[in-house]
Amino acid sequence: MSIDVDLEETDPHQEIREGVRKLCAQFPGEYWRKLDREGIYPAEFVRAVTTAGYLSALIPEEYGGSGLPLAAAAAILEEIQRAGCNGAACHAQMYIMGTLLRHGSAEQKRRYLPVIASGALRLQAFGVTEPSSGTDTSSIKTFARRDGDHYVVNGQKIWTSRSEHSDLMLLLARTSAKEDAARRTDGMSVFILDMRAARQAGLTIRPIRTMMNHSTTEVFFDNVRIPAENLIGEEGRGFRYILSGMNAERILIAAECIGDAKWFISKATGYAKERVVFGRPIGQNQGVQFPLAKAYAQMRAAELMVQKAATMFEVGRNCGAEANMAKLLAADASWAAAEACVQTHGGFGFAAEYDIERKFRETRLYQVAPISTNLILSYLAEHVLGLPRSY
Ligand SMILES: Cc1cc2nc3c(=O)[nH]c(=O)nc-3n(C[C@H](O)[C@H](O)[C@H](O)COP(=O)(O)OP(=O)(O)OC[C@H]3O[C@@H](n4cnc5c(N)ncnc54)[C@H](O)[C@@H]3O)c2cc1C
Repeated sequence: MSIDVDLEETDPHQEIREGVRKLCAQFPGEYWRKLDREGIYPAEFVRAVTTAGYLSALIPEEYGGSGLPLAAAAAILEEIQRAGCNGAACHAQMYIMGTLLRHGSAEQKRRYLPVIASGALRLQAFGVTEPSSGTDTSSIKTFARRDGDHYVVNGQKIWTSRSEHSDLMLLLARTSAKEDAARRTDGMSVFILDMRAARQAGLTIRPIRTMMNHSTTEVFFDNVRIPAENLIGEEGRGFRYILSGMNAERILIAAECIGDAKWFISKATGYAKERVVFGRPIGQNQGVQFPLAKAYAQMRAAELMVQKAATMFEVGRNCGAEANMAKLLAADASWAAAEACVQTHGGFGFAAEYDIERKFRETRLYQVAPISTNLILSYLAEHVLGLPRSY
């Protein structure tokens, strides 16, 4: 089977895939190369994906979305990456709203979901990570203190991607100190922050230049006031609320890695058939074939785990282990494919015009974000294998 052929008879998302492919064809390599060179956000691409309704795939129909299952959203992001585009510019708009959908009040959902679905408001920013706490989320310091009918927020977030291109942020902050909490994950709360108002009153955003074009930032809160009505669910239970959203995030990013792996393998096999050295195509050499065949097998196996995790998520089963494994295996598969693709292209793998070095830099991120490989392995060791907690 070629990687250009999906399991047509069994894949219910062929039509969506086809639509995404057509849209992505309008945004070829040169579009992404220019933005990459200049560090510019792909506003036209994001507008096109929003207008086509792909970013509201997971919002229920009653709120103006398409009410599609997670597997459909995974198919959309996979196709974006597979076409050589970069869904990281907007993927969070798909899943961040899940916390609001599952835990928000009827009024919050009525107020925000339809405008997010239409694209009138962008919910692209997810403020969790902080410089001093890193992966240890329970140690975040950003604090939201209740003051009458508002909360007053002070602190700092880092790696808050797309915040300059978002109207709203889903913010995790402490509302009571870790020392005062019965469990270390208690005492954190989650808010919808209207950044348009906050940027005039205490919120400062500073871009961070990174190895790929990712529009990530650090964000400073200096007495930023959030109306109490923007607290999602109960005060102190925020960490639980974002956890189920994190499973969706891991599954969708794993799907992006599958798309990346397909792009790399397709590009490399095409080149290996055409490039003639020593009077024969380089792809005739097993030394060139095997890394590609291995990456292909890794990708197909990871793809099955992505499908399994998505199915479990859709039926409401606890998919923590599967979502984490999907992310781990898919990120490894895309990295193996990226490495094999560069190697297959020899010197040309380093030339910007082939897009390989750009995709190589982009897919490298998924060994670290949204959760690093080590932390997934620790999760599996502790929660699946029952080994002692290592940290
Ligand atoms: C480009 C980019 C975009 C991002 N976007 C967002 C975003 O939009 N919102 C957001 O909230 N965050 C975002 N992040 C943050 C991302 O989720 C974190 O970088 C990631 O979770 C790792 O955290 P850290 O960087 O603090 O690493 P650290 O926690 O400091 O870890 C550093 C290294 O040590 C290892 N390590 C740490 N503890 C252990 C342990 N106990 N056992 C074994 N190994 C360990 C880690 O695996 C890692 O390799 C983004 C990051 C990047 C780089």
